[in-house]
Amino acid sequence: MIVMKFGGTSVEDAKAIERVISIVKQRRAQKPVVVVSAMARVTDQLLAMARAAGSGDRETALQLSRGLRERHYNAAGELLGTGVFTQFHSELEGDFDALDELLRGIAAVGELTPRTSDNVAANGELLSSKLAAAAFSARGVDATMIDSRECLVTDGVHMRAAPLYDETNARLKEQIVPLLDQGRVPVMGGFIGATKAGVTTTIGRGGSDFSAAIVGAGLGAERIEIWTDVDGMMTTDPNLCKDARRIKVISFDEAAELAYFGAKVLHPATVLPAVQKNIPVYILNSRNPSCEGTRIAARAPTCRNSFKAIAAKKRITIVDVAAPRMLLAHGFLKAIFEAFDRHKVPVDVVSTSEVSVSLTVDSNESIPALAADLAKLADVKYEGRKAIVCLVGENLRETPGIAARVFGELSDVKIRMISQGASEINLTFVIEEQDVPSVIQRLHKTFFSELDPAVFA
Ligand code: ADP
Ligand code: ASP
Ligand code: MG
Repeated sequence: MIVMKFGGTSVEDAKAIERVISIVKQRRAQKPVVVVSAMARVTDQLLAMARAAGSGDRETALQLSRGLRERHYNAAGELLGTGVFTQFHSELEGDFDALDELLRGIAAVGELTPRTSDNVAANGELLSSKLAAAAFSARGVDATMIDSRECLVTDGVHMRAAPLYDETNARLKEQIVPLLDQGRVPVMGGFIGATKAGVTTTIGRGGSDFSAAIVGAGLGAERIEIWTDVDGMMTTDPNLCKDARRIKVISFDEAAELAYFGAKVLHPATVLPAVQKNIPVYILNSRNPSCEGTRIAARAPTCRNSFKAIAAKKRITIVDVAAPRMLLAHGFLKAIFEAFDRHKVPVDVVSTSEVSVSLTVDSNESIPALAADLAKLADVKYEGRKAIVCLVGENLRETPGIAARVFGELSDVKIRMISQGASEINLTFVIEEQDVPSVIQRLHKTFFSELDPAVFA
């Protein structure tokens, strides 16, 4: 069997869902399990209505919900014949009435907890999977919608829940394998799951890719296909640099580094379940299905270019902790990291000097409280609007002089932190957020003007 995951833009309206159906039809013989995201922008809108309700603004919340209701009705109307649509319409009506009820409840209490936020957000994938399954059946593909909350079992950390693999794998086998044996196509929503007790959870923004990998690993898939709106993993974000080119094949390690440091095309957690079972992952374009995309595999072929790709991650804050007398003291770094741990703030890049340590974190609302806590240990400063730039490639391990070429190219750019070594395949540095487009374009020109045809398209 194979897993085919379709992202938000690939299911954004009736036309997009039609394309998905014809793509899946061509893979029928390979027993596909289909994982879908919410329709494009729906998760943002659901979270916006949850926040509006949480701040007591019931009207805004319900108005946003009406817009969403309309969009799903329209898509269903276009996709389903009159008979099916009538029945489906009343089902959708029930779902949206329940959502509105929930929003009224949140507005009445005037408080949005992570648990209720998950309850609202889960609607996106529940609706899109229901709609896609109905559309498949209407087009002669026998499909069954699976409520992912009955398969993907997670811990109770709302908004970024982690899967419990043993439970999940057992439930996947129980629910999905019989459908595949009957020749049916299971269609499930990504991103959502539930605790053992059945409380709805979500696994983090962009998490449908991860869901696809969990399902693929749990069922021993031959391949996992991530269908999106670009031709594959590119040498850099095509939105930042129009010269970005497709990477034909890349290693799991390289793809994981790129995903972690900002290549949004793949959720960073996707790679691990696939690596553990050695299942190849493909990134493909639902608007251009004949393009062969990017293959992510255990080993990539040797490449004449220094790097495979450049990623950038914005909305970064640098935290500088300076303690002239204490830095080298036993236990000092431990105390610093414990503070980050207490505030549940993950650290990306770290660099130390004799008197200070600098760390980068994703900008978020916990930083002031974290800084106040760190101030008990040392002098603390923090500064937002930074970005991490990351160049990735297996060749970094062996090639001397690469760092000199990178920084030589950027001699007029203010570089705040540099890190190379930890993973051996990335060179990472921190710049001002506003410098990202020009830095990416300059580095792309330097390192990707000539491309090894074995690796790049
Ligand atoms: P989906 O909704 O299908 O999950 P995403 O929006 O999450 O799609 O990811 C696809 C987007 O990722 C692309 O449209 C592109 O703008 C962005 N992106 C960032 N870096 C890269 C990269 N290196 N290669 C391809 N796409 C990238
Ligand atoms: N719909 C979710 C999000 O927008 C998950 C996903 O699309 O991967 O974050
Ligand atoms: Mg995505």
